[in-house]
Amino acid sequence: MGRSLLFAVTFAAIVQAQGNDAQKIRVIAFGAHPDDCDIRAAGTAAKFAALGHHVKFVSVTNGDAGHHNDGGIHLAHRRRLEAEESGRRLGVTYEVLDNHDGELLPTLEVRQQIIRRIRQWNADIVLAPRPNDYHPDHRYTGVLVQDAAYMVVVPDICPDTPPLRKNPVFVYFEDGFQRPQPFRPDVAISIDDVFPKKIDALDAHVSQVYEWLPWVDGRLEKVPTDPAERKQWLAAERARPIGPTVRASVQKWCGREKGAQVKHAEAFEVCEYGRQPNEQDLRKLFPMLP
Ligand SMILES: [Zn+2]
Repeated sequence: MGRSLLFAVTFAAIVQAQGNDAQKIRVIAFGAHPDDCDIRAAGTAAKFAALGHHVKFVSVTNGDAGHHNDGGIHLAHRRRLEAEESGRRLGVTYEVLDNHDGELLPTLEVRQQIIRRIRQWNADIVLAPRPNDYHPDHRYTGVLVQDAAYMVVVPDICPDTPPLRKNPVFVYFEDGFQRPQPFRPDVAISIDDVFPKKIDALDAHVSQVYEWLPWVDGRLEKVPTDPAERKQWLAAERARPIGPTVRASVQKWCGREKGAQVKHAEAFEVCEYGRQPNEQDLRKLFPMLP
């Protein structure tokens, strides 16, 4: 093949790849701790990744305080490696920001970290916790992402990172808090086919799911020591029944009969800030919906 023909073929391939990539949906999720995004959205993330879309998980703190016999730099390092391993297992990018665990505040500095991450990812969808939660880090992660929801399009804010020309859709993870208002499942996705993958991702967060969370719940002695057995235990722990409002949403999106059979789901509520999608938009943004 002549050089000019080779160049033309290569150039055409690059253009085609970029063209295809422009069709891809770009999702960024913010959790307060390494494992939060996984708990709320690993199944949905695995589905996006399997369809060739791009997903990034961001932990806003480094997780350096949530443990009973480890902490500081050592724990932060462990959590970063666990998050990276989870990302590998899911097929998503995982970034851990270096803010202290248990001390997160909705400051301008952290807001700017979030604005830059959303812009750099060129996000179509942004996921975050609602700002009502038992844990202050979860609460403030919700506030921080809400505070970024308009600023991502304002050029004079963080001028070192080009603003987005279209505001993403912001959605909240599911939670069980009732005040000031309960979670509203605008979208609910069956994750039955990727539930083992979600467990595989959570299994990477050893210091969380097999150590800290069982310890803080006073159930550490229930965790099996054998790696295969403890993974089975984790799957049983995470197989929680679907509540009536999420069930209704699953049935709305995938049909009454099919929806009645679903065992595991992840649900999301559309935030009032950012782009406001209609049902057709939601089907495009969540292409795994049947
Ligand atoms: Zn957390």
